[in-house]
Amino acid sequence: MEDRTIVFAVGRLIDGRSPEPRPDVSVVVRGSRIIEVRPTEALDIPEASDCLRVDLTDRVLLPGLIDSHVHLWGELTLDHFHNIGVPKEVKILRAARDLESLIKAGFTSVRDCGSKFAVHLRTAVEEGTLLGPRIVTPYCWLSHTSGHGDLTFLPPEWADVVSIKSRIVDGVDQCRKACREHFRIGADFLKVVTSGGIMSEIVSAKEAQFTLDEVRTVVEEADRVGTFVASHAGGNAGVRLALEAGVKTIEHGYFLDDPEVFELMLEKRIVYVPTLCVSKKLAQGAAYGVGSIAVRKAQETLGPHSRAFQLARCAGIPIAMGTDFVGGPLLPHGENAQELENLVEGGMTPMQAIMAATRVASMALGLPDEIGTIQEGKSADLLVVDDDPLGNISVLTKKNHIRMVVKEGQVLVDKDGKAGAPCEIRSPFTVSAAASAPAGAR
Ligand SMILES: [Zn+2]
Repeated sequence: MEDRTIVFAVGRLIDGRSPEPRPDVSVVVRGSRIIEVRPTEALDIPEASDCLRVDLTDRVLLPGLIDSHVHLWGELTLDHFHNIGVPKEVKILRAARDLESLIKAGFTSVRDCGSKFAVHLRTAVEEGTLLGPRIVTPYCWLSHTSGHGDLTFLPPEWADVVSIKSRIVDGVDQCRKACREHFRIGADFLKVVTSGGIMSEIVSAKEAQFTLDEVRTVVEEADRVGTFVASHAGGNAGVRLALEAGVKTIEHGYFLDDPEVFELMLEKRIVYVPTLCVSKKLAQGAAYGVGSIAVRKAQETLGPHSRAFQLARCAGIPIAMGTDFVGGPLLPHGENAQELENLVEGGMTPMQAIMAATRVASMALGLPDEIGTIQEGKSADLLVVDDDPLGNISVLTKKNHIRMVVKEGQVLVDKDGKAGAPCEIRSPFTVSAAASAPAGAR
């Protein structure tokens, strides 16, 4: 069957690349692709043609949102000991539900930053079994013994077996083998941790982890298959090591304050994913299973983290929106747009925050030619809201404002029934049936 053409005629378009919104624009989608974007009055499609016209003249259209740093863990608490006792099957089912929450919230792509489930969830989404955003994942992250990924509260022989997040590797050879195995399993990119973090209780986020040779080996293996490496790095030392090795994205940077490191980031065109949400949330996490040491570390991180974000922003470093949400009530998938509020609170304009969650985020996912902007040739990943997020960024955090979500040309959320029968969420199996309903039914 030939792909159906859908014309979205919008009152206001935020396309992810223009500095100002564009009034009265039509976005023409055929199959999964955007084939044309032009002023509605200049559109030349005969009235009688067999295309679906969606009237969004009282709406704002923007690219589907992208969270550049999530974890698909399906864990409801941050309590390590509780989580160890929950079967993986239960966690995967919860993560599947989280994917649906992300779609409902307007997120059409996510970069998982470490979960052994994510490659399998990606398969289920791609084949249409599950409803969810596009997933890009490194499988699990690489940590050295006693590093940020080592579950140091367990006997060492258990830690690597139990973890759904990390893999322990020491030395160049183990790093190389792990990278190759991760690609064999289906990793899209690789992730290393070149410093401690908030949740790793015996190591500091300010110290560097791994040797330069080890991280270079990881970068070399990524280069070989045409992909990139992301690094969790808390302070100047860990970031500098990652940059020297050739890593492309820096996660967190809680304590970044060295002007030379910022210069290096700029020079190497690094994308920085600050994840402001996570230090704020973990600092209040005592009731959600976050241990007392981690709560204290998070509280100590708050000031420097906010300053690091300011310094990076002023230095002109590309900043991508990422939450570090993992699921569960403290870091809930579906509420990810909260990070946009943090970015605006930290000094970005709403337009800059939206760019961080669209165009810049597409760079963090390694998909700048595929997603992140509304332009000809890109995937038709669209979000429709009924109020102006440029006037109030919180429009994107409130579910009642999310009216339509389109991923790869499929209308998955259509609360007003503008592209078919009204739906809160539409199974991928029923989309083609709705799209082929008689024109009169719309
Ligand atoms: Zn993370």
